[in-house]
Amino acid sequence: MTQEKIRIFDTTLRDGEQSPGCSMHLDEKIKMARQLEQLGVDIIEAGFPIASEGDFNAVRAVSAECQNATIAALCRTVEGDIYRAAEALKGAKHSRIHTFVATSDIHLEYKLKKTRAEVLAMTRNAVRTAKGLADEVEFSAEDATRSDVDFLCEIFGVAVEEGATTINVPDTVGYTLPTEYSGLIRTVKERVVGDRDVTISVHCHNDLGLAVANSLAAVEAGARQVECTINGIGERAGNASLEEFVMACVVRADRMPFANNIDTTEIYRTSSLLTSIISFGVQPNKAIVGRNAFAHEAGIHQHGVLSNPLCYEIMTPESVGIMKNDIVLGKHSGRHALTARYEELGFTFGQDEIADIYTRFVALADKKKNIYEQDLIAIVNERPQAQLYAA
Ligand SMILES: [Zn+2]
Repeated sequence: MTQEKIRIFDTTLRDGEQSPGCSMHLDEKIKMARQLEQLGVDIIEAGFPIASEGDFNAVRAVSAECQNATIAALCRTVEGDIYRAAEALKGAKHSRIHTFVATSDIHLEYKLKKTRAEVLAMTRNAVRTAKGLADEVEFSAEDATRSDVDFLCEIFGVAVEEGATTINVPDTVGYTLPTEYSGLIRTVKERVVGDRDVTISVHCHNDLGLAVANSLAAVEAGARQVECTINGIGERAGNASLEEFVMACVVRADRMPFANNIDTTEIYRTSSLLTSIISFGVQPNKAIVGRNAFAHEAGIHQHGVLSNPLCYEIMTPESVGIMKNDIVLGKHSGRHALTARYEELGFTFGQDEIADIYTRFVALADKKKNIYEQDLIAIVNERPQAQLYAA
């Protein structure tokens, strides 16, 4: 029996990029998109074309660049937005228009100043228009978790009728709880999807630290697309972290028996590439990619890990692509080898910078037997100017 598949929809370049400290230049977005393809994500949301010239150009460039991933462009349920998104997606091998409108009463009343009937009509028109302009259409009900469930099902019904093949149930404000969210997903599955070939998607924010937990609960309830970002970047407290969601599925395959296309050994490289581009890294204790995620400081733990890593490790650093650094420090070759290793991780430095980094590296190598790539990233993030930048 083939396992059911979870589609990984990465929105690092859209939801992630629009958050403070995360803006990227065009060439950086292309580099990131290439690495996301290497990682194996199914869909790359590359931008919100109507929002700016920069976003339009990013969607166009990423569309031209990517061979395997579907490229998604975000737009409101407004015709001008949809045409602009379609224009940006023209060169994509597989294109998806992702159109959204808010559905909660609070958003309707204060943000959109529209009635439910007006929002339904906008949705019908938007999905119908988008359908002819891209390979597929995704419809999102913004603030779904605070929306009236009958209205939510009604609007999803309209989107599906008009040809949307993915319906997204975002927890836009990071408000829901796992059991509540899985209940909502079950309701949408029963009342809207039935036996039609429509994928339920989830998009969770981390305001209560529950984005990954909620995404996992949603998958158990029938969601088959998860929207997430590298390092969990995104609006406010961020989005569900791709690496945490994927590794939870891998480590707990006994409870999460679903397949996905992610090559987990590319996780760390992708995370560090993002760190090298945006203005901050991940916290040291961040799951999966934090510098302490695989560190065992306590003596009793170290003893256990040396005897058998499974004593304290539920996954190996190697499984997420964190390799032991094999650089042998020689007086002359060390600096070049170090520069080369950093280049592999996506960092390039000037002469002065590398001198400073090399000094820090030697000091650390004196204290620590094994230097991991995580340590190299930490060295970069700990430089005084990096801290100034991150603050
Ligand atoms: Zn979002």
